[in-house]
Amino acid sequence: MIKLFLCKENYLILDMDKFTTYDPAIKFRDDYRWPEAGSKQNCPKCETDMQLNKNEETYFGKPWWCPKCKWQFSEEDLADQA
Ligand SMILES: [Zn+2]
Repeated sequence: MIKLFLCKENYLILDMDKFTTYDPAIKFRDDYRWPEAGSKQNCPKCETDMQLNKNEETYFGKPWWCPKCKWQFSEEDLADQA
């Protein structure tokens, strides 16, 4: 039972069973450029040292997380700020 709309920008996952029936041929995650483990980056908004999330198939967010702003950033976002 897979109910999944495939659209790069606006994917929706309606059925959490999807996680147990994962088909690697289906691309349903934004393809962010992922920093190397151990990379450091300061938040572009508040300069806080950000956390680098793990690049896992079940994680749909962006690589960087600012615990202070409670906001995610991708490498692309950070490049835009520069
Ligand atoms: Zn911040």
